[in-house]
Amino acid sequence: MLDAIPAPLVQVEDLKMHFPIYSGIFRRHSGDVKAVDGVSFEIMAGQTLGLVGESGCGKSTVGRAILRLYEPTAGRVLIDGEDVARMAPEALRRKRPSMQMVFQDPQASLNPRMTLADIVSEPLDEHTDWTRDRKLERVYELMDQVGLNRRFVNRFPHEFSGGQRQRIGIARALALHPRFIVCDEPIAALDVSIQAQVVNLLEDLQERLGLTYLFISHDLSMVRHLAQRVAVMYLGRIAELSPAKDLYARPLHPYSEALLSAVNEPDPVLAARRKRIILKGEVPSPANPPPGCNFCTRCPKVMDICKTVKPALLEVEAGRMVACHLHTAAGATGASEAEERKRPVNQQGETR
Ligand code: SF4
Repeated sequence: MLDAIPAPLVQVEDLKMHFPIYSGIFRRHSGDVKAVDGVSFEIMAGQTLGLVGESGCGKSTVGRAILRLYEPTAGRVLIDGEDVARMAPEALRRKRPSMQMVFQDPQASLNPRMTLADIVSEPLDEHTDWTRDRKLERVYELMDQVGLNRRFVNRFPHEFSGGQRQRIGIARALALHPRFIVCDEPIAALDVSIQAQVVNLLEDLQERLGLTYLFISHDLSMVRHLAQRVAVMYLGRIAELSPAKDLYARPLHPYSEALLSAVNEPDPVLAARRKRIILKGEVPSPANPPPGCNFCTRCPKVMDICKTVKPALLEVEAGRMVACHLHTAAGATGASEAEERKRPVNQQGETR
């Protein structure tokens, strides 16, 4: 029998999320903060894509725009073949149960005046007509799944530890049997000793329930354990998208290289080869990004072409995509982006 070919559950195509800037007495539209500026990726069903980058790079905005917590400016977001970015409100309401979010700060995301039972059954109130007893039964089931003692069902958020509160957030996200979950820095607000427990829980739930995750984090060592593929974001765009093992062994984009140089490397051979790269300068404003490569103001390998021509995200090795002139023919020849686009591209994304 042939092995089933994994299909993408999530397809994001050229997603843009721009926030308008208004200024002057007449509050005229004077520009846009390009928080997300043309992001594309796929996530295979049952897999995890890690989305990493410094704070302010737009990774959380990507997560929120995908779930339509923000109205995307442009682009398509196909979840199980349906374009969530353009869905009418009623269709979106019906789609909500299949796509959920686990938030960064469990303290802030849980209503302090509601008990655990109320919080976890809130999505059931909204999307089902179940009786009170049936909802309570589902709450108990979810508490078992996330490792919370059933005796705590009537407690309030302040009576739980940070790790337990995040388990409540996860139970609430699971209530309606979602297929896709955006985990937005779900461990960033937790003690280091608790972080691994929550990550193990997420991994365990993924295996048992066949969940698909977009795992947003600035913690590259944690992402390494969870994600099959990792997208590195810088200033609203994807700099590199690679299988996790390839990215951590040999980052291709200078920004990925700099980020990874600060991560502890368990392999002594790779650790000996690695040199710490300290990036100089500030991240430019997303309201006024550089005209060429958006990393050119800080890149240790910057070339003339980088200052004027935006590098496209291209597949430069099997399964590895990078937006950098060092890896394209344009970088070698100084060709313009327009010329570069005209060149035929083969299946590996290499220009010929
Ligand atoms: Fe650096 Fe140029 Fe590559 Fe941008 S395109 S990352 S500036 S080498």
